[in-house]
Amino acid sequence: MTSLEDSYTPNQIISVAVAVPLRQAFDFMVPDHGPTPRVGARVKVQFGSRKLQGVILAVKASSDYPPEKLKKALEILDPDSVFEPQLLSTLLWVSRYYLAPIGEVMEAALPVVLRQGNQTTPANRKTWALSDHGRSTAIDELKRAPLQLAIIKRFMLSTSLTSSDFKQDTSSWRQAIKALIDKQWLTETVEEPKLASRQVSPTSLLLTNEQKNVTEKLNNAIDADRFSCSLLHGVTGSGKTEVYFSAMEQVLAKGKQVLLLVPEIGLTPQLVSRVEQRFSVPICVMHSGLNETQRHLAWWHTKRANAKITIGTRSAIFSSFTELGLIVVDEEHDGSFKQQDGVRYHARDVAIYRAKQQGIPIVLGSATPSLESYANAQQGRYQSLVLKKRATDVMLPKIELVDLDRQPSGDGLSPGMLEQIKITLAQKQQVMLFLNRRGYAPVLYCKACKQACRCHRCDSHLTVHRRANKMRCHHCGFEGPVQSKCNNCSAEEMVEVGTGTQRVEAALNLRFPEATLLRIDRDSTRRKGELEDLLEQARSGQADILLGTQLITKGHDFPNVRMVGVLDADPGLYSTDFRATEYLFQQIIQVAGRAGRRKDTGRVLIQTHFPEHPFFEHIIAHDYTSFAENLLKLREESNFPPFGYFALLRAESTHQAKALQFLRKARQDMQPLEGVQLMDVIPAPMERKAGRYRAQLLIAAPQRSLLNATLQQWLEFLQFDADAKRVARSVRWSLDIDPLDHY
Ligand code: ADP
Ligand code: ZN
Repeated sequence: MTSLEDSYTPNQIISVAVAVPLRQAFDFMVPDHGPTPRVGARVKVQFGSRKLQGVILAVKASSDYPPEKLKKALEILDPDSVFEPQLLSTLLWVSRYYLAPIGEVMEAALPVVLRQGNQTTPANRKTWALSDHGRSTAIDELKRAPLQLAIIKRFMLSTSLTSSDFKQDTSSWRQAIKALIDKQWLTETVEEPKLASRQVSPTSLLLTNEQKNVTEKLNNAIDADRFSCSLLHGVTGSGKTEVYFSAMEQVLAKGKQVLLLVPEIGLTPQLVSRVEQRFSVPICVMHSGLNETQRHLAWWHTKRANAKITIGTRSAIFSSFTELGLIVVDEEHDGSFKQQDGVRYHARDVAIYRAKQQGIPIVLGSATPSLESYANAQQGRYQSLVLKKRATDVMLPKIELVDLDRQPSGDGLSPGMLEQIKITLAQKQQVMLFLNRRGYAPVLYCKACKQACRCHRCDSHLTVHRRANKMRCHHCGFEGPVQSKCNNCSAEEMVEVGTGTQRVEAALNLRFPEATLLRIDRDSTRRKGELEDLLEQARSGQADILLGTQLITKGHDFPNVRMVGVLDADPGLYSTDFRATEYLFQQIIQVAGRAGRRKDTGRVLIQTHFPEHPFFEHIIAHDYTSFAENLLKLREESNFPPFGYFALLRAESTHQAKALQFLRKARQDMQPLEGVQLMDVIPAPMERKAGRYRAQLLIAAPQRSLLNATLQQWLEFLQFDADAKRVARSVRWSLDIDPLDHY
């Protein structure tokens, strides 16, 4: 031991993950006062000129730095850890795997209220009552404090009072109460917020044979009381929810908690009420619509195990639990599980790691599993659970194609489509039309010089919005008046090309004036609660035609929809993104799954210019399995995920050259380990967005560990090499592990 180390007293040093974009922890001395430092507790530190919050990662006796160089932490904020050990190790893994700064990961895992240094227990109700001392002492003693005297007199008339009893009083009542507590006239009780549950008597369904079979296997996994991952692959309407519920029941019976992760749009009041009507336990919901106080409360109820079921979107995977017993990831293929900025984690993958840490089962469910999960199940790494039939007697819908070369479509609707809509409406059933393009027309161009109106900040066209009478850029939000004259040649012959939801809406209103139409897209659901309202109207059967973007495709159960129309399948068929057909398949199957869920078999019509494309054979047969097998073969041949592993280094700058320069330098500085490939530096498919030039460098590897090590090495180099640092500072850059979007 060196003499330097001798001068430390044991456990006087804490290693802190500070909320800054730096890839290391920092050592501080333990402050003289306050709680004993514990791993996972929050701490306030002076960091340069700023006071920042961090999380204690280690409590230790020595540091690589001499003691006189170490600063004292300002304050330890928690007597206990805010993250339980399994969560903490999951967060450390997230930082390593996604190569994200540890302090940022810790911060992302906390509700905003707790990022700001507030106490972990949410603001709670205090009640006051007369103490024995107060009761036995003559009130004359308070003669010189008239307000205190008045207050004590009120307490003599009632057993206890809370702040709401003093609403009418002058603001100094708080001080008076405090004085009375100090003098021990009053006692104070702090009531923790409660989470109520309703007693329900669910009508349990008789499980189908398939459901029974699958449920049994899941129950065995739960009984084993250790980590296991199951993929529940069930066609739309096969009753996956019932299977989740029966697994949840079993876990709840053991007194454990359940985490149900759902996609952003999948978290509908409908799903929550389905859970509420089934389970008589306290339930807590976490989603982006909550305000910070509500979010904090949900976090706390989950941490304290007041909530037995926690339903949440992506970030709920970072919740603290006391006794987590099961994780369910519904619609596991959904892209919204991937965080697209900051710490770019995939909630499903984090969930699997976490389940492993906790030693508990996890269930992934989907009608169209991601190829990653599908391959894992094929290779036996996940337990494969399959539901091939619908739970009700209703057959899967019949899927047909409309050849747009033979049947041209005016305003996005071919004669075949119109005919089918007419028939369905005449039968008093609902029609659902899917078009993933909002606005009126995606392009406005000049008939004379053929120039289209472009966004001056992005490499994109401006979309015409007739309702608002504006042209908008869907990439940067730019908005301007609709041009009646060409900027280029001044001709007054502007033509609207292409079809968005508003154009279809107008055409349908002309064709079917008696039908009630609901348009559901981002424009019609801007205000909070509007989407829920529209979906509820759709569900209740008030509308005859539902027209919408991907907002209407996911998991909704619209009982009266008989016919589904996919107005344009083509953009997904010939995209530069290698995942495009996978997404298109998932989308079409999801939207087709909305047709005919109750009584009569539904019908699905898909408009395309490429009816011969092999893609549609699988679609018409509802055969995800053979589609996935084919796609997997192609992916394997080219070493694409899930057979190879990708990372995408992105850079953007207001100067085109700088973004490219940073990436080229990074490419030079990287030392690829065996088999790791550094692709060419290229501009992003849409190079300019919101006035910034974007470029990217794809790194591919045959193994995750090689990819990780190569990048880790580069990041370390970047931290110490002055030249590389300087170039990096001139751009905005980010590293995306397992990227889903390649732009
Ligand atoms: P998925 O999530 O697989 O698309 P759901 O769980 O939403 O399917 O179930 C589809 C419909 O089938 C729901 O209306 C549900 O109430 C019903 N259902 C599920 N299981 C059964 C069953 N065993 N018997 C009768 N109806 C069922
Ligand atoms: Zn723009």
